[in-house]
Amino acid sequence: MSEKVKCLIIGSGPAGYTAAIYAARANLNPVVYEGLQPGGQLTTTTEIENFPGFPEGITGPELMDRMKAQAQRFGTDVRFGYITKVDFSGYPLKVTADHTHEIEAESVIIATGATAKYLGLESEEKYRGLGVSACATCDGFFYRDKDVAVVGGGDTACEEASYLAGLCKKVYMIVRRDELRASKVMQKRVLTNPKIEILWNHNTVEILGDKSGVTGARLINNKTNEEKIINIHGFFLAIGHTPNTDIFKEYLQTDKNGYIITEKGSTKTNIPGVFAAGDVQDPKYRQGVTAAGSGCMAAKDAETFLAEKE
Ligand code: NDP
Repeated sequence: MSEKVKCLIIGSGPAGYTAAIYAARANLNPVVYEGLQPGGQLTTTTEIENFPGFPEGITGPELMDRMKAQAQRFGTDVRFGYITKVDFSGYPLKVTADHTHEIEAESVIIATGATAKYLGLESEEKYRGLGVSACATCDGFFYRDKDVAVVGGGDTACEEASYLAGLCKKVYMIVRRDELRASKVMQKRVLTNPKIEILWNHNTVEILGDKSGVTGARLINNKTNEEKIINIHGFFLAIGHTPNTDIFKEYLQTDKNGYIITEKGSTKTNIPGVFAAGDVQDPKYRQGVTAAGSGCMAAKDAETFLAEKE
């Protein structure tokens, strides 16, 4: 026998927990499946200084613990586990948790987020959180007046390099080709910024460091095979994100990069009763606070959907 759930929320980042807070307060008896990374991407960062309401800053894990506690305070059933399969071909919506537990949901809010891509170097893993970061807006502030590097040549890399140039002494952009993928306007912004030096045709071989964290990076010019060492304290990845949408793709419309497409100004997907919030449907803003905002929208959209169904 399947368990019957009124509002199933998949994912436990700011989008998932905000959806849970609103859904619980609207008596939708939400059940949250935390997923493989309880608390989401913010738990991988240290200090968060741009989430409104915390003028003194707060650590990522603490912020997420507080959101979880707030969701539970209103009766959200938070479960450690993850969704392994969905079947949105009929209604109620069928979902399988942990390979075996069958659920029939009247509404589903997908808040599974996205995962930043890394280069896959051993040294990158070693210094993750000690100078290696995939979020300049989160961690750039710690490198004030220092030298840093950004890897990538897309809009995100340009945006992050420009942001870091406002804080740091010097920003290297490590670009693997001899051109940028970014839009012309973003290209112009980095090409004209005197604090940004673009290292064309370069790949990162190793990130160097000591007990204090990152101290440099060893690069290779993929045209000339020449090696180069740059002295930096921060190494920022901006080579794209992968939205966590694999199990939904059979049913939901996604863009060419796999992000779920939602109706403009709402969190509705192409399947009635299925809503998407947070980074899983947002390749652009990707902030904790924007994810939380769209989580609120998803709960309200689910509430309206269920009310109209009755
Ligand atoms: P993109 O996929 O657009 O760019 C990724 C960049 O990283 C490319 O330059 C790519 O190089 C490089 N790259 C990928 N893998 C590696 C690797 N292993 N080693 C070195 N370099 C690598 O991702 P973005 O996150 O920049 O953008 C995602 C989407 O979001 C885009 O559609 C973008 O336009 C949009 N966006 C818009 C913004 C805005 O409008 N302000 C801001 C941020 C994002 P290569 O070019 O050689 O493939």
